Amino acid sequence: MILVLNAGSSSLKVEVFDLALTSLLSGSVSSVGSDGTLKLGDLTKDVKTADHAEALSLMLDALAAANITVDKLTAAAHRVVHGGTILTEPARVTPQVIAAIKSVIPLAPLHNPNNLAAMLALQEVAPDLPQYASFGTAFHASNPEVATRYAIPQTQHDAGIRRYGFHGLSYAHMVAHFGDALPSHLLAFHLGNGASLCAIHDGKSIATSMGYSPLSGLTMGTRSGDIDGAAVLRISAALGEEETDRMLNRNSGLKALGGDNDMRTLLNRKDPEAAFAVEHFCYWAARHAGSAIVAMGGLDAVAFTGGIGENAPPIRERIMAHLACFGDVPVHVVAADEEKQIARDALSLINAGF
Ligand code: AMP
Repeated sequence: MILVLNAGSSSLKVEVFDLALTSLLSGSVSSVGSDGTLKLGDLTKDVKTADHAEALSLMLDALAAANITVDKLTAAAHRVVHGGTILTEPARVTPQVIAAIKSVIPLAPLHNPNNLAAMLALQEVAPDLPQYASFGTAFHASNPEVATRYAIPQTQHDAGIRRYGFHGLSYAHMVAHFGDALPSHLLAFHLGNGASLCAIHDGKSIATSMGYSPLSGLTMGTRSGDIDGAAVLRISAALGEEETDRMLNRNSGLKALGGDNDMRTLLNRKDPEAAFAVEHFCYWAARHAGSAIVAMGGLDAVAFTGGIGENAPPIRERIMAHLACFGDVPVHVVAADEEKQIARDALSLINAGF
């Protein structure tokens, strides 16, 4: 069995897979750092945790009670949000990899430290259990330099200001899901509360809409998507850095335009404000798609994943209507499963002897 761990900013999610990559059990601890809830299969209980290490400890106890003890695990596999420019493929967790994840903390200050905390805590309680890591940015390491480079001075580029791209585990899962039936020029949309797209040419990411951070690109649930840097400077001069950050990441996007970040709610509403928010989402998804299709040099198929991509036919139809000028191409819907991709990555490394 492989235990997949996703230590988010205030949650810990786990999923157990067998070695055929069938999901056996999943669970979570919410509100890590305060009063939260532990869920595992049918079990739900209130828990108070100080940090991710304590959340992990409680989760390991719950797993053991469900007869999944640490000694029965083949490996643990972690989701790490940011791999920077150095961690560009899945890796076994070694002291060098831990040092590399630490070095990338400035790029993902809210996420990478939690991922590390889970690794180190597990190492304490199960020193012999092999651990692996998959990186949310790694799938886009194949983007050419012309796509990743901002046209800014070299010193800033060298300091890490470049496009990285995100949702890479979701796109990697999509590629694995297609298997031999993978279209050569695939335009992939991951549309959830966070939203991005990716031009996938022969299984490799060529271009993606998110950049230095997950803020850029498409209109999202609460993030603005693309906005002129000069506008950000002016907002920041007026509101200060912290408030600007909060505004652009948490109070923009559909929430700012339609008063709600939930697409289902917006689609159920009939007022013009909600309709405009939905149209803004679809129009900008399609505009960014045009850019990605040019980067890829063609379009054979479109695939949608994520909460909106999987469950909202009107959104898929509206985006495809905007893309009608590219011809009539097959449209696929793929269920997002980043955890399975993380387990798949770990299994590949195990089979390769790492
Ligand atoms: P995710 O971040 O992938 O969990 O996706 C969350 C988004 O998916 C929210 O905006 C939800 O409103 C949206 N969503 C989920 N189910 C539906 C549905 N049946 N119709 C429209 N939007 C949906």
